[in-house]
Amino acid sequence: MEIAERVPEVLRNNVMITTIDGLFRWARSNSLWPFSSGLACCAIEMMCAAAARFDLARFGYEVFRTSPRQADLFIVAGTLTWKMAPPLKRLYEQMPEPKYVIAMGSCANAGGPFADAYSVVPGVDKIIPVDVYVPGCPPRPEALIEGMLKLREKIRHPQVAEKAIK
Ligand code: SF4
Repeated sequence: MEIAERVPEVLRNNVMITTIDGLFRWARSNSLWPFSSGLACCAIEMMCAAAARFDLARFGYEVFRTSPRQADLFIVAGTLTWKMAPPLKRLYEQMPEPKYVIAMGSCANAGGPFADAYSVVPGVDKIIPVDVYVPGCPPRPEALIEGMLKLREKIRHPQVAEKAIK
């Protein structure tokens, strides 16, 4: 018998049944704490996304942190150089689990207009794992918010995300 079926008929419209895992995923997906890290021009759009006009607070994502130890979402906004790659990796490693990464903009996704430059990393995923890629040069704040909502779905339904990747 399904667990939901064990709830008496009279209570079914008032009671929700889930697992502890599901409850944690739901809570986590509604309260991401981004780590504010801007590497280049995309960072301006990231800052705009956090401003009052776009009201990130309605999703529970407005608590931007300046320390990786207090954050679970690393938004890499801008051009990553090979010189900056080791500090970026160290910051990622300082974040507690579970943690997520959004690559914001063409540079973070694949090097952007500087992909052939000797000094530029052709994609943040060469250094740390990326969960969501937001395209654009630069992406508008709405695009970043869309990326955060995609991440929300990925956190809530990890099985679906795994299948989509395969
Ligand atoms: S993607 Fe475009 S806007 Fe963003 S950091 Fe690169 S060059 Fe600048």
